[in-house]
Amino acid sequence: MPTVYSHSRLSCFEDCPKRFHYRYILKVPAETQSIEGFVGKQVHEVLERLHRFVLQGLVPSLEKVLFRFRALWEESFEPDQVRIVREGQTVEHYVDYGERCLRQYYRLHYPFDADETLGLEERIQYRDPEHGYRVQGFVDRIVRARDGTIEIHDYKTSRRIPSQKRLDADRQLALYQIALREKHPDTPMRLVWHYLTFGATRVSTRTPEQLDALRAAIGDLVQRIESEERFEARPSALCDWCEYRDACPAARGKPKAAVEPAAAQPAMARAATRSAAPKPAPTAPSAPSQMDLL
Ligand code: SF4
Repeated sequence: MPTVYSHSRLSCFEDCPKRFHYRYILKVPAETQSIEGFVGKQVHEVLERLHRFVLQGLVPSLEKVLFRFRALWEESFEPDQVRIVREGQTVEHYVDYGERCLRQYYRLHYPFDADETLGLEERIQYRDPEHGYRVQGFVDRIVRARDGTIEIHDYKTSRRIPSQKRLDADRQLALYQIALREKHPDTPMRLVWHYLTFGATRVSTRTPEQLDALRAAIGDLVQRIESEERFEARPSALCDWCEYRDACPAARGKPKAAVEPAAAQPAMARAATRSAAPKPAPTAPSAPSQMDLL
């Protein structure tokens, strides 16, 4: 079976090959997740539900949306498994943060009739005919705008809005466009980001030539990954949010250890046994990338 790549898998390798090795080759189970990732996941889930109701002609009230968020939070939050990295922040801060994201989105888009939803959390993919690998993603919302353009919408819970220049070079949504244009080859497309906490929307477009160049660049990156043998650590500020921080001897700001810490060894051993298994599984749909840190 050919390997499946995603934007988050590619970014993981670019950010730190060692983390990629832990996660996708050794498949070391992540025992914790960052609270930023947790909030992002709950917000995405609530927005998906909101739009599913809208598709049935039902628009839930803002109170119901916020109630659903709180309920989901209470159902899923495990204090031992969710890490708060930023000093001085409380769980309640993050609950408020998630609510603010939802409130802003709701107020800006109510009554949600400005466009037509074509897909929610939709899995899309393309296959490289030469090498056989696939690239896939899950689009938060695929939309037909009133002018007929297909839009690829993505919700962001990050604390910053990137510059337009960065968005014009962004890989994630462009990668989705490569996959979607196979289905809609003649329809113009737009890439749309919702920076929820700011109530801000950003838009970008790609030419066919840019998409072809991106596809080639992804092919080069996949080749690099598949020929990689060393998977060296690349310590950075992201180590604070890395789920393997406790296991990784190279984590930034940590005294150097000659071997993997004892606490991590059972999980490593289990993972090493599994690493004989053929290829990594697809990345979870809503796993937020490091760029999405709150
Ligand atoms: S702790 Fe840092 S260096 Fe180690 S795997 Fe994670 S990101 Fe890489």
